[in-house]
Amino acid sequence: MNLMSYRNGPVFKRLFRKAEPLLKEKREALGRKINLLEVCGTHTEAFSKTGVRDLLAPYINLVSGLGCPVSVTDQCDIDQMIAYTKCENVIVTTFANMMKVPGTHSNLYQQKLEGSDISIVQSPSQALEIAEENPDKRVVFLGIGFETTAPSIAQTMKKAKAQGTKNYFVYPANKLTPPAVSSLLMDKEHQLDGLVLPGHVSVIIGRHGWQRLERFRVPTVISGFEPIDLLSSVVLLLKEIDKSSHVIQNNYPRHVREFGNGQAKKLVEEVFEVHSPSWRGFGKLPDSGLTIHAEFEKFDVRKNIVTDKPMSRNVKDCRCGDIVKAKEVPFNCKLFAIACTPESPLGPCMVSSEGICSSYYQYEREY
Ligand code: SF4
Repeated sequence: MNLMSYRNGPVFKRLFRKAEPLLKEKREALGRKINLLEVCGTHTEAFSKTGVRDLLAPYINLVSGLGCPVSVTDQCDIDQMIAYTKCENVIVTTFANMMKVPGTHSNLYQQKLEGSDISIVQSPSQALEIAEENPDKRVVFLGIGFETTAPSIAQTMKKAKAQGTKNYFVYPANKLTPPAVSSLLMDKEHQLDGLVLPGHVSVIIGRHGWQRLERFRVPTVISGFEPIDLLSSVVLLLKEIDKSSHVIQNNYPRHVREFGNGQAKKLVEEVFEVHSPSWRGFGKLPDSGLTIHAEFEKFDVRKNIVTDKPMSRNVKDCRCGDIVKAKEVPFNCKLFAIACTPESPLGPCMVSSEGICSSYYQYEREY
């Protein structure tokens, strides 16, 4: 099947007609709506954008957590990244979705307006190219992401080492999702009946990479992002609800293998090591992030370029910390759609199209 087949309207309708009795039966058996957690900004957006969230709403309460990497990055990291834009002889390179992330006193967009040298790149390799073209400058790449961006960042450091590049640096802020999802499942406040896992992270870590979640005995499925992927994943979860033990189901086999992408994982292991960073909302999570291995420390910006230590504080009244922990919905933030919009975001969840607040702003607002 090609990609379009997973968007086929008549097939989707037939699947929904078949699923409806099961949806009704499970909702009645529970005596409440079925609570399903999704932990990926791409899913939050896809469920809303495709209308699947609305269609399922009579039966299912889709709870959003984590969101995008920008949303879960700690405020101290954001401020530290902004601090590098104020250093002499530095070009900061970043993905576009970082530009409007609010730091305590400024953001990258504001810094650029004030004269800092900041370039938006499409990939880490483009940042390395900028370093090669500007040998008299120090080029810093802001390495924010989940498991999906880590291999390409690792690749640039390997290449820089091999060719002797001395002016390329990385701010390592990649996060690992399974420990954060475990933390959500450990939270007894959540009454969860199922969990939808991100297809793209699973392409890297494989079905096996999520195995630690099986001990929570919650029905769990790896899903793609097209309408038929979303609905068929929900059906798979419903069928599991009454069972006492659960294996992680792979409903994205067209891209996800049992052990993921071996080459990408090897690259990451060579260049990075696992550490325990702070996440927005969660605080320190054991073994939930990647830092640069000693062998590659000459590319670690924190060890090679000194900045003033910025003072950090979160925006008053911003609920992003609770939203990424799935304890709040954007509508309950008093700044939502009033003071905080995608044009002028006050918190990180409103910045990228995959931030939870941004998705709710685009698709779930009532006019
Ligand atoms: Fe933060 Fe804005 Fe979301 Fe409120 S609406 S939680 S201020 S990002």
